[in-house]
Amino acid sequence: MKFCVLASGSSGNCIYIESKGTRVLVDAGISRKSVQERLAQIGVGLDAIAGLCITHDHSDHTAGIPVLTGRHRLPLYATYGTSTTVESNAKKHFEWNLFEAGCAFGIGALTFEAFTVPHDAGDPVGFVVSDGERRLGIATDMGEVPDMVAHHLKGCHALILEFNHDRDLLLNSSRPWMVKQRILGRRGHLSNVQACDLLRCIAGDQLRTLFLAHLSEECNTPALARGCAAEVLRDCGLAGTTQLCLHQWPGPVLDV
Ligand SMILES: [Zn+2]
Ligand SMILES: [Zn+2]
Repeated sequence: MKFCVLASGSSGNCIYIESKGTRVLVDAGISRKSVQERLAQIGVGLDAIAGLCITHDHSDHTAGIPVLTGRHRLPLYATYGTSTTVESNAKKHFEWNLFEAGCAFGIGALTFEAFTVPHDAGDPVGFVVSDGERRLGIATDMGEVPDMVAHHLKGCHALILEFNHDRDLLLNSSRPWMVKQRILGRRGHLSNVQACDLLRCIAGDQLRTLFLAHLSEECNTPALARGCAAEVLRDCGLAGTTQLCLHQWPGPVLDV
């Protein structure tokens, strides 16, 4: 299995995954044009994409849906709560393949296990994507880490985890107090420290790739996120075997 993070952060999220001839996207928070251009840079045509799986209804994960599903007829996968909120925000009806958090569904060679994450959206989920041999865990946009989320993410060969903010940078930022409270809340976003606690609990010997995702531009830095993640990998004896990556574009296509 391979993946490429086409976009990550509050200005848009989109992940490309492929294995055994099946190609999918998780989230489409950037324009159809950007998705198409970025896929082309890694040699993939939009017509080859078998499905678009949505984690939750926020626009940084859904903005590209109308054009991608309209003109390009990409099959859409989401929970009922996500589907209804996306439709009411877009004031438009879409064709959905609905799944439930806690259940698995398949697209070609890939199996998606969806699990509930605590976030201020309709019915938000994270995914573990498997091709029967390798497992890729995706968990961004959550305010805290319930035991069940950590349980799902154990045993992954690659992880895309949210390292949203440094708590001190957020508290000292110019953001309104309401926004700070939302981000720090139980349905907000993970701090570097929270993400590291999660990583410490789920990192196993099989982990080869760790991607630090959804970094806040204003309230985090790549050096801070990378520094604390690297410390956890060192403590877990994985510093020599797990590759640490952050979003940049053009980004590499990574092995799971
Ligand atoms: Zn987001
Ligand atoms: Zn969100």
